[in-house]
Amino acid sequence: MSFTIHGAGVSGGIAIGRAQLASHALLEVAHYSVPKNKIRSEKARFDRAIKSVGKELKDLRKQMTADIPEAEFEAFINLHKMILEDSTLSEEPKKIIDSMNCNAEWALKLQLDNLLEQFSKIEDAYLRERKADVRQVAERVLKALLGRPGTNPLNSAEKNTIIVAHDMSPTDVILFKQHNYAGFITDLGGATSHTTIVARSLNIPSVVALHQARTLIRENELIIVDGTAGVVIVNPDEIILSEYEVLRKQWLLGQQKLKRLRRNRATTIDGADIELNANIELPEDVSSAKENGATGVGLFRTEFLFLNRGDLPSEDEQFEAYRHVVRDMKNSPITIRTFDLGADKQPDGFTRVAANPALGQRAIRLCLAEPRLFHHQLRAILRASQYGHIRILIPMLSNVHEIDQALHLIAEAKESLDVDGIKYDGEITIGGMIEVPAAALSIDSFLKKLDFVSIGTNDLIQYTLAIDRTDDAVAHLYDPLHPAILQLLSHIIGCANRANKPVAVCGEIAGDPSITRLLLGMGLRTFSMHPAHLLAVKQKVLTSDLREAATITKKILKAQHPDRIESLMYKLNTTS
Ligand code: PEP
Ligand code: MG
Repeated sequence: MSFTIHGAGVSGGIAIGRAQLASHALLEVAHYSVPKNKIRSEKARFDRAIKSVGKELKDLRKQMTADIPEAEFEAFINLHKMILEDSTLSEEPKKIIDSMNCNAEWALKLQLDNLLEQFSKIEDAYLRERKADVRQVAERVLKALLGRPGTNPLNSAEKNTIIVAHDMSPTDVILFKQHNYAGFITDLGGATSHTTIVARSLNIPSVVALHQARTLIRENELIIVDGTAGVVIVNPDEIILSEYEVLRKQWLLGQQKLKRLRRNRATTIDGADIELNANIELPEDVSSAKENGATGVGLFRTEFLFLNRGDLPSEDEQFEAYRHVVRDMKNSPITIRTFDLGADKQPDGFTRVAANPALGQRAIRLCLAEPRLFHHQLRAILRASQYGHIRILIPMLSNVHEIDQALHLIAEAKESLDVDGIKYDGEITIGGMIEVPAAALSIDSFLKKLDFVSIGTNDLIQYTLAIDRTDDAVAHLYDPLHPAILQLLSHIIGCANRANKPVAVCGEIAGDPSITRLLLGMGLRTFSMHPAHLLAVKQKVLTSDLREAATITKKILKAQHPDRIESLMYKLNTTS
């Protein structure tokens, strides 16, 4: 039976392929039968994996005490040890191996699904939150079973495979970067959740907030993903399929044409040069930034170096990552954002449960609470700064005291390098992300202390409109054209320009060509976005006239009603 599901398109284009139902990082789990005479050794293999994770947790204790409050860390290790040793995880899968004659990985996956379902029904919020811990421990066991992380028995089929998931953490999605899937769809997620942002960086047609896709779609069903319209068609009939095949070809052709703009300068009709930078999550992303002609890196989300691992990256490891990026991008400016951990990006080991994590100890707040962790990162960034042009960007500032404290800690990191006789760029510039309404409204005092600012519209919209970025139930309320957002953006850009301080936008709207002229009209000259969007935005810049954009933007800023804003936006985008 053919049917259509509607969601939010997050990465444009059309993919046609077979569904592969995914459950978190357990995507790589193969299912095969084990002959009766091998069951005993399969169970022994499972026991060995449990034992090796026990040792891993013990070793973790040695590695992590330096940077994490000891009591909290002990509690984390003890909890994970308890989960590991509980018979529901260490014994039940062996019963499944016995009863189903299946491999240990599959038995573990089935048992985990059971456990997660039971956890979802728990009313106590604290206990419900322990679901993530159970999953993390099971994933460790799975990795131990697989021996080599990253082994994927499905590799050859990836190009025709659409990943269908209920929920994914950004950590899960980042693993997909090593793969080559055709499309990606999930039930949960908002337009700017970090899961969605990483999904967008996979650069394949993607739709989120589908609510029921994981339940309605069966393994191996043929699906069309229209990432532009936010539509998924399951089991399409012949006519629909051939129509979409034509559309897909047209889309691919359009992508090819855009590639010709790679070396063009991004200059408006009236001769203004616009800087188009790339947002990256991992050092490897630099290749796609270069392929798409980025002027530099406008946002390196360094927290991704801290995810998907049992330990924390050392100063040396971070230094190598930053040096790799700065060298690879030659002399282009690289804006390294200090880690924005917390909220929906929790490294293993940070088990703090907050009722409202987005309003909790996140980003600079966490850095100031864990100054040793911050110190190592600052030293690593400063050390890398002697190899090119690095700028430091501080996330989620909400008051000037945080700026003073961050500047003080940067000065301390510099002093410690001086003592060690290690060189760094003494002129390194320090910027702040403007992504909290309080920062936007007090921008003048922020500009006095900072060398540059970058507007994080994903969070600015979340905090101004009071909509959780990760909650698909309120995803429809995400509105970058809300009059309040337009006023804040225009205020920040105007103040920064008047103060002669560089200002950029690095939230998802910077990569939306339908908003490019509005931002130009407000006076923005620097954009930072996912590399995949760069050429489409460049094409828009090349056909834009700044004076005309400014005239219509002024009218948009005076408009109060969404309908009026919409019709003026149409005018703005259809002139020239
Ligand atoms: C933002 O908030 O717009 C931003 C760029 O930062 P992040 O999406 O990583 O929170
Ligand atoms: Mg942000």
